[in-house]
Amino acid sequence: MDRPQTSSLSIRLEKLKRSRLGQAAVRLSVRLGLNKAIRHVLFQATSRVLADNPVCLDQIEDGLLRIRITNLCNAQCRYCGLRSWSKEEQQRSMEPKWFYEYCRPLYEKLKIVLITGGDAFVARESFNYMKFLSENYPQVTVMTESNGQAFSERFQELACQNLFITHFSLNASCPEVFQKGCWAGKPGETAYLKALDNLWTYKALLESRGLDVFGPSVSMVINKDTAHDVIDFIKLALKLNARCASFFFDYTESDMAGSSFGQPETSRPALKTLMELERVLARRFFIYFRLWLPFAEAAPLQEEVEATPLAELQEKHREVLDLARDRSMSEELRQRNEIRAQRGKKVILFEEAWTPTIRMIEVCGKQVCFAPWKEIDLYPNGRLDFCGWYKETLNLRDFIENDSVDWSRILNSPEFRTIRNNIWNYCFDGCQTCCPMNNCTSPVIPIHKYGFDRIEAGA
Ligand code: SF4
Ligand code: SF4
Repeated sequence: MDRPQTSSLSIRLEKLKRSRLGQAAVRLSVRLGLNKAIRHVLFQATSRVLADNPVCLDQIEDGLLRIRITNLCNAQCRYCGLRSWSKEEQQRSMEPKWFYEYCRPLYEKLKIVLITGGDAFVARESFNYMKFLSENYPQVTVMTESNGQAFSERFQELACQNLFITHFSLNASCPEVFQKGCWAGKPGETAYLKALDNLWTYKALLESRGLDVFGPSVSMVINKDTAHDVIDFIKLALKLNARCASFFFDYTESDMAGSSFGQPETSRPALKTLMELERVLARRFFIYFRLWLPFAEAAPLQEEVEATPLAELQEKHREVLDLARDRSMSEELRQRNEIRAQRGKKVILFEEAWTPTIRMIEVCGKQVCFAPWKEIDLYPNGRLDFCGWYKETLNLRDFIENDSVDWSRILNSPEFRTIRNNIWNYCFDGCQTCCPMNNCTSPVIPIHKYGFDRIEAGA
């Protein structure tokens, strides 16, 4: 499905008019009875204000490029969002020229290239592209997101050699739970065992090279069929020497804009267990589950967990604590960065290490979501945003001229400048309301607040 080439200037003026600043200008010009020519001048002035405002400018230096290299995936998770896409879209892969050539001007600036999908390892060009980045841009850290089935030995070797940050959505601690809660039947069992086998092999490879601290992160989706598996999943993560474990509540079970769980009888105990384990494992092992939390559910449970003596929780979760006895988030990060520096890679900061795509930065004196300033998100159909949770904004195809792309036109386009201006002013039109970084439905909780920081304070 090719997008028609459109007049980008008229589209941009239209979008500018729809922005908060643009609409204020429209209201003012109408109220003052200004004619069309004067209105046009007003729009241009608005555009100049945005152009000159430091709040509106990108900060892509040391930022993150998310390349959705293909929509193809070799799994069939029952809650996969891609299933609602057309068959054609589900099979679309990115044109290699886009990431080999058009994105080339970005690589010198970036710190992380996150290759995802679909599945990062199933595109025809996946291996060559990861090798290309590793050889030509060693300062960049390649990050991958996958279900693990296609993480074959050659990918494992490449990832190990080049210190990839790998993430695997494993989704259960055993094939039985995986089949029940994610992908039913024999295909589900085979896929799970293959992925797990790959992760054990990778663990052994990292250990044989003295790179144990570069273990992957793993994640699971919590639903009514997997909620009971949370503790066993964390145990498995620790046995795999994972860097951290993340949990997401199944969006098909809840109204993501709501303040309560759709399946409270299973979700509530799972959330409470995660809060307890977060406290018990603080500073040792990072668990992340706060991407979407219905506030009405989270607040009372958090209170209960805070009121429980730590010794009691440690006793309750002794087995997990024993597995994490020798772990240290800060020491592992220090070791990783020391090795990265030896290999000419940029240092990864604390929050980049644990939640590279979910974090806040300071822009002109305010803490804001990092994405509009520091992230680019490119899809196989050309969709070009800074965040997959923001409404569709630009398309790469509109910026291809004379077979190249001028990224300054994109990074500081009127659309992106307007959105930065809006978000900096706490206007989140276009953002998903359930996103914790826009404070629409629940408070923004720093990733370290209930883990790392608490023990620092001696609690
Ligand atoms: S691994 Fe991810 S992309 Fe693949 S089917 Fe599962 S949810 Fe969808
Ligand atoms: S939805 Fe908005 S606040 Fe959330 S990550 Fe995207 S840009 Fe940031």
